[in-house]
Amino acid sequence: MTLKELHEECLKCEKCRLRSGATQVVPGEGAEDASIMFIGEGPGKVEDETGRPFVGPAGRFLDELLKSIGLERSQVFIANMVKCRPPGNRDPQQDEMDACRPWLDKQIELIDPEVIVPLGRFAMYKFLPGTTISKEHGRLYSRGGKTYFVMYHPAVALYKGSMRVTLMEDMANLKKFLDGDLKPVSVEDAVSEIIKEKGDGDERSSNEGKDSQIDMFS
Ligand code: SF4
Repeated sequence: MTLKELHEECLKCEKCRLRSGATQVVPGEGAEDASIMFIGEGPGKVEDETGRPFVGPAGRFLDELLKSIGLERSQVFIANMVKCRPPGNRDPQQDEMDACRPWLDKQIELIDPEVIVPLGRFAMYKFLPGTTISKEHGRLYSRGGKTYFVMYHPAVALYKGSMRVTLMEDMANLKKFLDGDLKPVSVEDAVSEIIKEKGDGDERSSNEGKDSQIDMFS
């Protein structure tokens, strides 16, 4: 299956309640052979109207962030956890993300990016569950030949201007990685650190937690 064929199928999807409230499905866009894939939460109003991801105010800031490290949209791939707009821009619900996950998983499989950038906590939970974005943003993790770079969702800078600087600084870390000046931490080491910090002294439950988190890291 090609990415184009996948998106044609995705456009017909009615697997969850979000489809009934959305104008159209927004699968994602960008280079089919992109080495970097950005994953947001879901389409907003402008995205729902246009059928394109990240083209509203948050998308314009994402463009700025990309330009700050010498990248254009056409060089990366941009998608969302859910492909249909949640009503009123509410957070996507877990069952909606679960229903939509196969589309995203297949996109990742077909594009096979070297770097995945979850934008915001919902995308981060897919790749690094059990932790917080305020702690993980700007950090790089590696597993299975892929690098994961956690960022706040660009929309936070629209509501809190000071976050623009944070996002710009975080983006600079991605540039450092791309230039070979910053190495990612392995997920296994990071999960061990999280479990240790949570102060769980029960060896058995620690291992269960570790397995659960690592299993989710796809
Ligand atoms: S959000 Fe995803 S699973 Fe739900 S209808 Fe849209 S494409 Fe299908």
